Amino acid sequence: MTVPSIADPVRSAALFERARAVTPGGVNSPVRAFNAVGGTPRFIRSAQGAWLTDVDGNEYVDLICSWGPMLLGHAHPEVQAAVLDAVRRGTSYGAPTEPEVELAEEIVARAPVERVRFVSSGTEATMSAIRLARGFTGRDVVVKFAGCYHGHVDSLLASAGSGLATFALPGTPGVPESSTALTLVLPYNDRTAVETAFAEHGDRIACLITEAAPGNMGVVPPEPGFNRFLAETCRAHGALFVSDEVMTGFRASRLGQWGLDGAVEGWRPDLMTFGKVMGGGFPAAAFGGRADVMSRLAPEGPVYQAGTLSGNPIATTAGLATLRLATDEVYAHVGAAADTVKTAASDELSKAGVAHVVQATGTMFSVFLTEGAVRDFDDAARTDQAAYAAFFHAMLDHKVYLPPSAFEAWFLSSAHDDRAVQTVLDALPHAARAAA
Ligand code: PLP
Repeated sequence: MTVPSIADPVRSAALFERARAVTPGGVNSPVRAFNAVGGTPRFIRSAQGAWLTDVDGNEYVDLICSWGPMLLGHAHPEVQAAVLDAVRRGTSYGAPTEPEVELAEEIVARAPVERVRFVSSGTEATMSAIRLARGFTGRDVVVKFAGCYHGHVDSLLASAGSGLATFALPGTPGVPESSTALTLVLPYNDRTAVETAFAEHGDRIACLITEAAPGNMGVVPPEPGFNRFLAETCRAHGALFVSDEVMTGFRASRLGQWGLDGAVEGWRPDLMTFGKVMGGGFPAAAFGGRADVMSRLAPEGPVYQAGTLSGNPIATTAGLATLRLATDEVYAHVGAAADTVKTAASDELSKAGVAHVVQATGTMFSVFLTEGAVRDFDDAARTDQAAYAAFFHAMLDHKVYLPPSAFEAWFLSSAHDDRAVQTVLDALPHAARAAA
């Protein structure tokens, strides 16, 4: 038995009860409710560097980093100073501002996009990218992969029909069949399925959208050359290749997932989506790509898209400060800290006799409790979720805050110093035994 080293989450439990009375499930995004792992979700009072403090005064090393954005850790002094300075001048003008231009220039300098348009969430980014792809090509069908999450866009909340290239079914009540009737859902990393879909429907396909490296079924890296194959297949059929880098952008590496494959292999997506890190912890996201495609967007072109808070000066200031501070050294540090955690997790699980696989792309990774590699959503679904829940709670009891679901990526930051990493290493043996 392990001895919990944290206080009972009494205040979190009380807040959760109040929250459930006024908010569905007590949370504003489902996974925060700990549904997959059970127990009391922690209500967070503050955060500094690599550490979260809950309302009961417990401190945890944060391996979620707000689901990716906090690449520099929490309350980074320079990001905070830039934000406070911007807030003092005003918070929203509904008119263009300098930080928007600077952030757009920063993104265009780093990512293979010629132009970007800002929105407020990753969901809006993918939704708008698909509308633009349809407007540009004059075609209707969208291809996606099972297990890739692109936000809660109706047409992308779709589950696979039976067969390799059949149109999808709504993935949730509330999405009408007509919204998914033009979405093809294919198994990830499956070239045959992609070839079949394009052979059957190629002249109707507006775009294929994929997570550049899926992180939403846990980290399932594309097999070598898979993204290039997708880009080439789209090109051959006059469809657009939309690479969703909301999670991986400026996170997996300085140049995102594209820095790990496209930049090396010499190809570019037609459109990309960004979010998370580029907002520095504020609601900012973007879609961008080829100038000829982006110029179809209003007011230059006929494809409508807009947003009251799009390019908000506080969010773009935070994103700009974050990206400017996100140097090669930052990524080297995050990568090295992640490697230490990955190796230790694997060693401790092996010692405890727990079947597992650690999968990574750049600085982000997942620990799957399963035999053999996870290469698609079916493999991910077969992993041992009960063992993960036990693992999760033992980590939490030992001051480490992991994603409360087996199907998520683990994130570190440049603020994860030796003390934070050591706390994780100290917790892992307990968690590995709990998972056995
Ligand atoms: N695309 C990817 C790859 C994501 O991981 C997410 C969110 O996790 C989204 C899109 C949606 O972003 P948001 O939650 O900001 O709407």
